[in-house]
Amino acid sequence: MQFRDVLGHAQVKARLIKSAREARISHAQLFFGPPGTGKLPLAIAYARYICCTDPAEDDACGVCPSCAKIAKLVHPDLHFVFPVVNPKQGSVKAVSDHYIEKWREAVVANPYLSENQWYDAIGAENKQGFISRQESNEVMRKLSMKSYESEYKVLIIWLAEKMNAPAANSLLKLIEEPPQKTVFLLISEHTDHILPTILSRTQMIRIPPLEAESIRAGLSERFPGKETIAADVIRRSNGNFSTAVELMESGEQEQENFDEFVFLMRKCYGREIVDIHRWADKMARLGRERLKLFLTYCLRMIRENFILNLRQSEISFLSGQEDEFSKRFARFIHEGNVFAMAEEFEKAIDHIEANGQPRIILLDLAIKNIFLLKQKSPAD
Ligand SMILES: [Zn+2]
Repeated sequence: MQFRDVLGHAQVKARLIKSAREARISHAQLFFGPPGTGKLPLAIAYARYICCTDPAEDDACGVCPSCAKIAKLVHPDLHFVFPVVNPKQGSVKAVSDHYIEKWREAVVANPYLSENQWYDAIGAENKQGFISRQESNEVMRKLSMKSYESEYKVLIIWLAEKMNAPAANSLLKLIEEPPQKTVFLLISEHTDHILPTILSRTQMIRIPPLEAESIRAGLSERFPGKETIAADVIRRSNGNFSTAVELMESGEQEQENFDEFVFLMRKCYGREIVDIHRWADKMARLGRERLKLFLTYCLRMIRENFILNLRQSEISFLSGQEDEFSKRFARFIHEGNVFAMAEEFEKAIDHIEANGQPRIILLDLAIKNIFLLKQKSPAD
């Protein structure tokens, strides 16, 4: 990952490069903003630029031994801290080093990795990751040593909001009295969960959602020849590149989403509880990320159907088969139930994200939906 590989964020890149060229690298910086942007890619590209032995004006050289090591994330002066989960067996408290091989593999393959994709990669199942005090002991040990090859040691803390209180406090001490030639690059999607004392001692750099053009460029490189699907995906991704990639990959899942949505609505309308139970069992096995995509699809269908019903219009953003189905279905989605229905689906997405039991969440959603579908339109 070099600056040229990071999508968009031209201003931030320029600012980071300038700081390095003028030897005014702030020793603690926090890249913050919504998920799915270039926070981690920027931090890695910045570290690469700082450590490069022959940097050009606008990017690392890409070929020096330092660049080669950072490309594989194996540079001895580049350290990573990220949320981990404790292993199933044993009483060892997990630290990032236990997962470093998986981390390198996951980030090299996809520097735009989302938190949930990371947990999937380490088989965290229903557990939430954390950054513990043990981790900060490791960090202190590593940073107390002299740098091996570069002038600087760089520590990237991915999702710094996952630090528990003892970890955060010892990081604070390190930031207050930093070891020589050490750069802390914190990355956060929820600065409200970070100690205010840490925030006040770091230079905060906001990383905004990606512009449509940047997402388009990234998608056309990854999915050549699929520009027509991409247009729709960019519109739905809200500046989040991870979401855009997931939506592209789920293109083939759209048919499945449609079939499951139609099935769910029919069974709810018919109050076929036994079938709904079976459906929830089956869907619960899909995995959280896949389920979230399905529920997001349902939300879109509900909204589009409401608009269709409201305007009685011929124009819709639906595909052929969706449009065909919606001509008959739209009349069931009206002012009397659309808001409550959308809220239930949004709630289900939140609960799946928060590691609730998928089967129970889906069952609950379906049962609420039975009642909502039966509500009369105020217009009738
Ligand atoms: Zn280089």
